[in-house]
Amino acid sequence: MIVSKFGGTSVGTFEAMQRSARIVASNTDRRLVVISATSGTTNDLVALQDATLDSTSKEEILQRIEKRHLDIITKCQKQDKLLKTFRKQFSELRLHLDDSGRDKRWKDRLYAFGELMSTKIFVEVLQEHGIDAQWLDARDVIKTDSEFGNANPILESIGKKAAKLIDKTKTHLTQGFIGSDIFGSTTTMGRGGSDFTAALLAEAVRANTLEIWTDVAGVFTTDPRIVPDAQAINEISFSEAAELSVFGGKVLHPATLKPAIREGVNVRVASSHNPDEAGTWIVKEADHKPVIRAISLRKDQTLLTVNSLEMLHKHGFLAQLFRVLADHRISVDLVTTSEVSVALTLDTAVNAAHKVELNEQILDELRKFAEVTVEEDLALVALIGNNLDSTSGVVGPLFTALEQFNIRVVCHGASSNNLCFIINEEDAEDIIRMLHDKFITRKEMPEAKPELS
Ligand code: ADP
Ligand code: ASP
Ligand code: MG
Repeated sequence: MIVSKFGGTSVGTFEAMQRSARIVASNTDRRLVVISATSGTTNDLVALQDATLDSTSKEEILQRIEKRHLDIITKCQKQDKLLKTFRKQFSELRLHLDDSGRDKRWKDRLYAFGELMSTKIFVEVLQEHGIDAQWLDARDVIKTDSEFGNANPILESIGKKAAKLIDKTKTHLTQGFIGSDIFGSTTTMGRGGSDFTAALLAEAVRANTLEIWTDVAGVFTTDPRIVPDAQAINEISFSEAAELSVFGGKVLHPATLKPAIREGVNVRVASSHNPDEAGTWIVKEADHKPVIRAISLRKDQTLLTVNSLEMLHKHGFLAQLFRVLADHRISVDLVTTSEVSVALTLDTAVNAAHKVELNEQILDELRKFAEVTVEEDLALVALIGNNLDSTSGVVGPLFTALEQFNIRVVCHGASSNNLCFIINEEDAEDIIRMLHDKFITRKEMPEAKPELS
């Protein structure tokens, strides 16, 4: 069985839906199909949640969502039936927006409209391509905790629900991104979460393959929007791909690979626009293991430096520092220390997803025992590859290449698959282009050595 996930741009227009339906139809093993909202719709719904939005802007956004869906529906054979369904969903969306009792569940319910609308249309498009797909409400299968906006799956319940509701002899179409908690309230799994849904379902039904169909022909050596001559990678290991997605490779939601690794599901990333291109296979062990396979970028990083003479030869200082951050649920990425100071990086978007930020209250708590400085407008660049910690001659050429830039933090040695550093955000894209040209296109780097035993 193959689980196939189609992202927003793969279902964003009538033509895109046609292409994606043809892909599903071309292999009868593709029996569980997961799709995102039509591209742009989740962004529009996120804009609509703003309580300060004036009514003109609100109407503009609603009309944009309506037009995007009607443009598809009016080209479908069963447009009358689809129009009826869409009109009903759209008036529910309006009612939901007018609901004055906005509680913590309200936003997730709002965001879910995107996937609920797209799947109602795509199930008909699949029918028109001769695929008798059953529409499945993902909220009946993807059971999560009640962490609204960033819900965590409850694997045991998902396994049981999938066994009950997914008939492996039939084809099912369901929504990515959304689930429900034990009380039945709609939850969402974080932006880009449809990849994660598809992986959880692939794990639950023990699929052979998970396919991620997107707008680029695989996982690239870097974001092709920054470096147009970046290349699709034929094969990459789970651990490299996991680092790449965590460190900014938007092509996969960072949590996607965990379920695939647990159940040994091979993952393929390919372009629904050019399905004949090979795409990328993500496998347990890749045959070719270059030292530098890819470069990723994460913007919007904050550097927090905590300095205290009390740290000198004392124990417990780091514990005290991390206790404050943990109490406020602040997630930390990179850490470097000197004798009297600690530098940590925080990702604004990751913390915002957990509804926390580095605010004055936290800084005041830290100031009770240390001097604190905060720097913004930074970016994290990660070199992703193999044996980065045990290959000699990597750091020299890298630092020489970065000579003219101010590198604020370097993290090397914690992972064999990743070497990363913090630089000014305004230099980030130039640095990516320069490093990609030097180390990936022109391969000015030693080959990976066998793992140290
Ligand atoms: P979808 O809507 O299909 O989920 P996304 O926009 O979430 O698609 O992810 C695909 C995009 O990820 C690509 O258009 C590309 O610009 C971006 N991207 C960033 N880094 C990479 C990378 N290393 N390889 C491929 N795509 C990448
Ligand atoms: N529609 C959701 C988003 O845009 C989920 C996804 O596309 O994966 O974040
Ligand atoms: Mg995505």
